[in-house]
Amino acid sequence: MRLDKMSPDQRARFQAHCADQNARSKFPLPIICTACEKPLADPGASSRQQQLPAGAVVIPFFAYFCSQVCADTFEHDYGIQFKRAATGKVSYE
Ligand SMILES: [Zn+2]
Repeated sequence: MRLDKMSPDQRARFQAHCADQNARSKFPLPIICTACEKPLADPGASSRQQQLPAGAVVIPFFAYFCSQVCADTFEHDYGIQFKRAATGKVSYE
């Protein structure tokens, strides 16, 4: 069905459906540290636990680490190098 052929009612329902799908797929699973498996955030839990803790290191589309130390450990164990900020910390911001 073409979007421009939808009635206002159909369009509203379609957009609500998409928003719902996006909300579900954003953080589908609890997030754990890729190195030590410490839980970092649980999307299914209270809203307070959906935030990543301060100091968490995020590698987009790849991994979450609870700390810079775990990111360093993972790099060392797997012989890979993440992108670094000028400060020497792993950073993809
Ligand atoms: Zn960790």
